[in-house]
Amino acid sequence: MYATRAIIRLDYFEHNLQQVKSLIPAKTKVCVPVKANAYGHGSVQIAQKAIQCGADFLAVATVHEGVELRNAHITAPILCFIPPLPDEIPLLFEYNLTPFVGDKNFLNLLVKHDEHARHAHHTQLDIHLKIDTGMARGGFSYTEAPEYALFITQQHNLRLTGVATHFACADSKNPTDIAYTQQQIERFNSSIKSIRQAGITDLIVHAANSGATILHPQTHFDMVRTGLMLYGYSDKTLLDSSPSPISLKPVMQLQSKIISIRELKKGEYVSYGATWKAPADTRIATIPIGYADGLPRALSNNFSVSIRGKAYPLVGRICMDQCLIDIKQDNPIECFDDVLIMAGDAPFDANDIAQKCNTIAYEITCSMSKRIIRIYS
Ligand SMILES: *Cc1c(COP(=O)(O)O)cnc(C)c1O
Repeated sequence: MYATRAIIRLDYFEHNLQQVKSLIPAKTKVCVPVKANAYGHGSVQIAQKAIQCGADFLAVATVHEGVELRNAHITAPILCFIPPLPDEIPLLFEYNLTPFVGDKNFLNLLVKHDEHARHAHHTQLDIHLKIDTGMARGGFSYTEAPEYALFITQQHNLRLTGVATHFACADSKNPTDIAYTQQQIERFNSSIKSIRQAGITDLIVHAANSGATILHPQTHFDMVRTGLMLYGYSDKTLLDSSPSPISLKPVMQLQSKIISIRELKKGEYVSYGATWKAPADTRIATIPIGYADGLPRALSNNFSVSIRGKAYPLVGRICMDQCLIDIKQDNPIECFDDVLIMAGDAPFDANDIAQKCNTIAYEITCSMSKRIIRIYS
C-alpha cells in the first residue's frame, strides 16, 4: 500500500482524446506528446493507451525518452522535438525515432552519419522539417526552410516525411496574441507553398498544439499535436470559444491518507516558521506529501483538501515530505482516512493550483515526482 498516490484515469484520457477528435476532420491525424513522462502521467502507459485509442503519432522531447518507449515495445512513429547531441545521433537510426530537424549543425551531423550508415545498415531515417515562424526556439527560418527541404530530399539516407512549426501564443485570446499567431500561420503557409512548388509532396504538415487546436482550426493541417488537452486541462476561456462544445476531464487525481492526528490547543503553532496559530482548540492531521513530491510549497496556508466529502484547510508551511491539515473537532475523521488533494473530488485541480502559484497546469502535473506511485484505472 502507498499512502500518497496519483490515480491516472485512462478512461478520462480516452474521453479527452475523443473530444480532440470531435474538433478536427476525421482524416486529420493526432500526435500525442508524451514528453516529460507524459506530463507526469507515465509515458509508457499513456503511449500504449493513446495508440490503442487510435492516435497516429507519439512525441517526446529527448532521444532517451524515445528509446524508453521503444524498449517498452511501442512501434508507433515517435517524433523527437529536441536536437540530440552528436553521440546520441546513432540512437535515432537504431531506434527509428523521427527527429524535428531545424538546425544546420544537426542536419550536417545527420548527413555525416548518413555516409557511415550507407555502408553499415542501410537505414533510412524519417525526419520532419521544423520551421521557425516566430517562436525562435528551434527550426529553420520560414524563408530558408524550402532550401533545406530540397537539400534533405537529396540525401540518400534521410527521408523527409513531415513539416512542422510551433506557435508561441496560440492559447491566448488576447488580440495581439491572435495577430501574432496569424502571422505565424501566414509565414508557415508561404514556406509550405514554396516547398510544394519545389516538387516535394507526401508530407505530413502539422502545427497545432492544444491552444491552436481549439482556437485556430486553420492550423489543423494533416495532424494536431495536442498535449495538455488530452491530460484534461485548458484555459476555461478557450473552451468557451471552442467551435463545438467540449468537456475535458483531469486525468491525474492526487490522493493521500492521514497518517497521524494530534490535538492542538488554542494559540499553539504548527510547522516550520510557526506561520499558523490555532484560533481555537482543534485537531491537526498529517499527510505524507510535501514539496519533494511536487506539492508546491507556495500553497502553504493557501490550499484545501477533501476528506469524507468536506473541504479542510492546509495549515502551516508545507514541508519536504509532509503537510498538515486542520481537520477541526466533532467529526468522524480518523487516522488512515483518504484525503483528496487534486482533481477528482478534491476542491482544486491542477489549473486552480497553478493559479495560486502563478504558473501553469503543465508545471503542476509535470512536477509530481517519482516518489508518487501512479495507479492506472
Ligand atoms: C509540448 C509540445 C506540444 C504540445 O503542446 P500542448 O500545449 O501541451 O498541447 C506540441 N508541439 C511541440 C513542439 C511541443 O513541444
